[in-house]
Amino acid sequence: MNLYYDFSASSIRIFKGLLKIGVDLKNNKVIFPVYNSQYQTISYSNITFYIKKNDSDTQHLKLLEANNFLSETIQTIRIESAQFNPPSKKLKYIVGDGYFGALEYYSFYNFFSSSRFVRSGCLIIDVLSGGFYKHEIIHYIFSNYQFNRFLDEGIATLFSGGEIQFKTSTLNCWSEMCNKIHTDKKYRNAIDTEELLSNFQYKPEMYAISAMLLFKYYRKVGGKIFYDTLFNKLIKFSDAESVDFLKKELGIQQLSTFVVNTGVSLWEEIATKNI
Ligand SMILES: [Zn+2]
Repeated sequence: MNLYYDFSASSIRIFKGLLKIGVDLKNNKVIFPVYNSQYQTISYSNITFYIKKNDSDTQHLKLLEANNFLSETIQTIRIESAQFNPPSKKLKYIVGDGYFGALEYYSFYNFFSSSRFVRSGCLIIDVLSGGFYKHEIIHYIFSNYQFNRFLDEGIATLFSGGEIQFKTSTLNCWSEMCNKIHTDKKYRNAIDTEELLSNFQYKPEMYAISAMLLFKYYRKVGGKIFYDTLFNKLIKFSDAESVDFLKKELGIQQLSTFVVNTGVSLWEEIATKNI
């Protein structure tokens, strides 16, 4: 999910983009992969990529990396949780070319509630042809689970190594949050009242705080209990209930204090270690 996605403002642009790559909204089909002659498919064991025919070898290497990232991550989670239910359908990954003038989308079609891809949840439209986006692949990995938005984005941010947006650093985002908490009372209040964490807002604060709470919780209880809780308990919780649960487990009174007291170096750990 694109962090700064504003549906009303960009719907026309996105609509045009979909038509351009061959998404047939009327008949709820993605026709592009089959009929658009500018594209070819490259299939690995886990992902089918749709890329432009003239894309370079470097691009192919990135596709291979994406495929490896996907299978390794699934493998790691399986080791820690026997009950993990990975997606059974192969991921379709469309490497776009800046069509939407924005970032990547996973299961983007949800907004139209129209396509069979909604239910299968196995389509990524990647609008940057320069790389692959771990965050969206994590959404796919957990696509058999319907977490609330707060958890969903926190999980994708954490397991992608701290990716909120393509090639952005959550570390910088976290420092900015710390500064703002010190200088802006209203902002601090919005963090503490959890106003910035819910209400259907895709704010960087929601991504970052959720990921950090989950990381700390993982560190505290270990992988097995973490996944047990995630798959059996947290999955039934609302955004607010999840925040409350994690705060309680970690002994947090105020989220603003938690943010300020959590060093940015933890983001480096998250980026370098696959949890
Ligand atoms: Zn997302």
